Amino acid sequence: MKPITIVGGGLAGLTLGIALRREGVPVTLHEAGQYPRHRVCGEFLSGRGVEILRQLGVYEAALAAGAREAKTLKFFSGDTGTQIVDMPEPALCISRYRLDALLADAFIGRGGVLQTGSRYSGGYAEGVIQATGRQVQTEVAGWRWIGIKAHALNVALEADLEMHFGENAYVGLCRVEGKRVNVCGLFRTKEAIPDLKKEWDKWLLGACGVALTKKCPNIIFDKDSLCVVAGLPVKSFQNSDTGVFSVGDAVTMIPPVTGNGMSLAIESAWKAVGVIQGYASGQISWKPAQELARQGYARSYDRRLRWAAWLQRGVFSPLVRGLLVRSRPVWPPLLRFGFGVTRN
Ligand SMILES: Cc1cc2nc3c(=O)[nH]c(=O)nc-3n(C[C@H](O)[C@H](O)[C@H](O)COP(=O)(O)OP(=O)(O)OC[C@H]3O[C@@H](n4cnc5c(N)ncnc54)[C@H](O)[C@@H]3O)c2cc1C
Repeated sequence: MKPITIVGGGLAGLTLGIALRREGVPVTLHEAGQYPRHRVCGEFLSGRGVEILRQLGVYEAALAAGAREAKTLKFFSGDTGTQIVDMPEPALCISRYRLDALLADAFIGRGGVLQTGSRYSGGYAEGVIQATGRQVQTEVAGWRWIGIKAHALNVALEADLEMHFGENAYVGLCRVEGKRVNVCGLFRTKEAIPDLKKEWDKWLLGACGVALTKKCPNIIFDKDSLCVVAGLPVKSFQNSDTGVFSVGDAVTMIPPVTGNGMSLAIESAWKAVGVIQGYASGQISWKPAQELARQGYARSYDRRLRWAAWLQRGVFSPLVRGLLVRSRPVWPPLLRFGFGVTRN
């Protein structure tokens, strides 16, 4: 077997690493950071990625580590909420602090070589896979996109996942390990925000028409879990041929409102396993393997990404948001439709 190098130890890189090790492929993975560590993420994992975690043996380990299954959902536009509805299928809510560390342990357990604190700066030659996450995009159509997340205590939730929408923001809340609730928001602004470092909690609870301040009067944030990212590429990148074999957000990023980015990252890695194993065992050369993986992504993601882009546009439209929270009878089938088109 020829050796494989993976650059980036997020969900995509680690999933790929574990799956390749199961096939006996020698793998070295470079991760710039350390485990465990907090990341900006809604920490709501839904879609086919859940089943892949089961097959990797990580799902049960996640539950044992305190992950929650989310079964119900409620949407809010300002103060007005929908009814609580059942999700078409349960999702897994687990901190990235825990999940990435579980995957890293599983990778090492399978005999993978994990080099943390190792920022790779070599080229993407034959046998090297890029799993470095999203590309930075400072502005999209005049908007700057910012993600903020922190864990909190003393938050009473009405549903397992609550999504609070405002004019230029939405904030998702879900229970993760222990009594913690992950509070994660995506904000768009045309101005730079000079006070974000000091005022991040105000942004999470009450910016842009998100109405969480009244709902969470006793909230206590864990400041050590705070993460902020800017330059989010909320407009999906096209799956163009860059000449680099990529997986996860490095290929394309689905708008976060779908709660499907983690799954897409895991799925893209899973899909690539067969061709990379074929390359490692000498059945196929590198370029055709890369092209097969790219065509596979295009077939299974293009439609999902198009629907996701519409969904993202919809939630930032006051008209669509107003209709959504008032359309009680059609809300459950609408939700099933939204889940279906972004996940299948
Ligand atoms: C605000 C927000 C909320 C979100 N909420 C959700 C949600 O609720 N549900 C969901 O499913 N998805 C959500 N997502 C999306 C999800 O977080 C991503 O899709 C997912 O993390 C992608 O995984 P990845 O492995 O491709 O990249 P990442 O998880 O970003 O991992 C990339 C890794 O590569 C490493 N790296 C980068 N460059 C180098 C280098 N040169 N050398 C070595 N290492 C390197 C980084 O340190 C990092 O660990 C959200 C995203 C945002 C921005």
